[in-house]
Amino acid sequence: MQSETFNALAAPLDVGPLTLRNRIVMGSMHTGLESTTETAGYERMARFYAERAKGGAALIVTGGFGPNAAGRLAAEDHAFATIEQARAHKRVTDAVHGEGGAIVLQLVHAGRYGYHEDSVAPSPIRSPLNKSTPIELTDEGIAQTIADYVTAAKLAQEAGYDGVEVMGSEGYLISQFLAPRTNHRKDGWGGSLENRARFPIEVVRQIRGALGPGFLIVYRHSVLDLVEGALSWDETVWVGQQVATAGANIINTGIGWHEAKIPTIAGVVPHGAFVGAIGKLKRALSIPVTASNRINSPALAESILTAGDADLISLARPLLADAAFGKKAFAGKSAEINVCIACNQACLDHYFESKVISCVVNPRAGYEADYQPARVTKKKRIAVVGAGMAGMAAAIEAATRGHSVEVFEAASQIGGQMNLAARVPGKADYAAAAMAYGAQLKALGVPIHLGRRVDSRTLAAGGYDEFVVATGVLPRAPDIPGANDLRVVSYEAVLSGQAKVGPRVAVIGAGGIGHDVSLFLAQSDVAASNDPAAFARRWGVTGAAPEVAARARTVVLLKRQPGGFGRTLGKTTGWILRQELKDLGVEQLAGVSYVKIDAAGLHIEREGVARVIEVDTIVVCAGQVSENALAVELQALGKTVHLIGGARLAGELDAKRAVDEGVRLGLAI
Ligand code: NAP
Ligand code: SF4
Repeated sequence: MQSETFNALAAPLDVGPLTLRNRIVMGSMHTGLESTTETAGYERMARFYAERAKGGAALIVTGGFGPNAAGRLAAEDHAFATIEQARAHKRVTDAVHGEGGAIVLQLVHAGRYGYHEDSVAPSPIRSPLNKSTPIELTDEGIAQTIADYVTAAKLAQEAGYDGVEVMGSEGYLISQFLAPRTNHRKDGWGGSLENRARFPIEVVRQIRGALGPGFLIVYRHSVLDLVEGALSWDETVWVGQQVATAGANIINTGIGWHEAKIPTIAGVVPHGAFVGAIGKLKRALSIPVTASNRINSPALAESILTAGDADLISLARPLLADAAFGKKAFAGKSAEINVCIACNQACLDHYFESKVISCVVNPRAGYEADYQPARVTKKKRIAVVGAGMAGMAAAIEAATRGHSVEVFEAASQIGGQMNLAARVPGKADYAAAAMAYGAQLKALGVPIHLGRRVDSRTLAAGGYDEFVVATGVLPRAPDIPGANDLRVVSYEAVLSGQAKVGPRVAVIGAGGIGHDVSLFLAQSDVAASNDPAAFARRWGVTGAAPEVAARARTVVLLKRQPGGFGRTLGKTTGWILRQELKDLGVEQLAGVSYVKIDAAGLHIEREGVARVIEVDTIVVCAGQVSENALAVELQALGKTVHLIGGARLAGELDAKRAVDEGVRLGLAI
């Protein structure tokens, strides 16, 4: 049973010049707002961070700003280098301070991770993530870069920031100086550890020297680099100690370089997977340490603090999912906190599409001005049919605004497709996210009638003013001769546990669900995504070779379209799923024609060659069709009907669209 008193998380902490009101730090994220030069952009940034401060975060770390032009992340970004920018940022710092929070500006020099032609690095070694080779920094260039950090820190102070976070992890410039893999210099900035560490130590020392003790310096330290040719554990500890001596007030923690081939924040990473290493570092340091990565509940945060593994908790994506994380936790309402499902779909993936980040379970994030709930002037009675994410999101918003809402759900539990997704390795949080919506509805007093498949006549006679039909989707049946064979089952039957699956499987359809189902059926190491030790073995976190458990079944994944697999998967998570299927030996066949299914198996034709795949089970993952009959009937009865989510349009339905449609409707109805 989860404790509802989070005393350790709620405890204030004196650190450097500040008293933080609790232990919640909003970790830095690339928001897509950093490149703004317009008042509206600064206003949006102010609103975004202020909402998180209002929601209880004690300390906010902004998205990263380059200390100079060479250090910017992308060509369209601007260095934090002018007094005009500092003045514009005042709007942000005032807004956060107005909500009782503290805020520091993150200074990140991208080094060879800069996506532009001016990138620099300790040595001219191209990153595997980048097409261009960085220019080697000269001695003067290094001195100037350090001076630029100091200038940026002074400007941050001018802007009203309480301090800066110096980004020393994730493979950016400071990591590049520290690691022999990227630092081949023969001068005083390369070679021995003391020389390689000179750059970050000087950055911190000179900022402290210029800004004095009244300015907070957070140093983001790479606890585990997860790449070859980087720091040993003893070196990591030594650098942390030196940075503290140089003047850092807090060590924030980072895990893995961006080029690491080990997942660090995706759903397959167990909750608190890296807390063991963070705790070990904390015990070797004398300044406060912040724990990070896959901490998405107050209960876990509290247990990390009480175990003495950290002094502060960094929540980045969880504060996108719910700006009021702290407020709800401290008010005994932790069940109502929207759960970050670690999908990256609307946050990191958006950033890589040059969009402002948001959140699948909270589309208001980053778009605060566009999703303002207005209290209703005319209260309506609204029936919402379907307690999947779309229906629940609509019900929450409508009820919050003052409507009288009731929810009907045919199944015995809320959540719809999220409950199926939750069965997939690494997606257990999907069910928790649905439960959080359910808890919010309960708190709003919205009745949820479970196990009630309502018909149009009953609904029409119920005295409702309007209807929201969010009845979702049905799996599409394939048009293949013999598809009525008993060995053919839907993904729904497989994931819900209704269908028995044999040792040899063909999966028809290679969208997101076909990939997920293939993993679900092939993987035998179920602990790898919920137990940190099993995860570490599976992915080789300690540097040993990854241990992939023998596959549970032989799986063949098929699609009719030619070309590569997994193209529809998320940019920042798809590589993990592709790697998993490769490691498990899932055979992937593109450009197939399905001929028939008979006693011999699944007959296909590919590049003019016929083949029979001998199978015990054929799982159909061929997309979905809308289940919208109820809406049609209600409309025929002259009722006002709002059709949302998969019931409106099945194609490319995912939680992001479902929730967004629900929220938008709930705000407008
Ligand atoms: P999807 O991405 O549309 O994939 C459906 C697959 O079924 C396609 O690969 C298609 O391939 C095949 N197909 C379509 N009609 C068919 C037919 N009549 N007969 C045989 N095969 C047929 O849909 P989904 O996989 O059901 O996923 C639904 C949504 O959830 C998508 O938006 C998806 O992005 C999202 N989702 C994402 C993830 C993830 O990113 N990990 C996981 C789950 C779901 P061919 O036409 O080439 O045969
Ligand atoms: Fe978390 Fe997904 Fe929201 Fe990103 S989009 S914050 S990963 S739930």
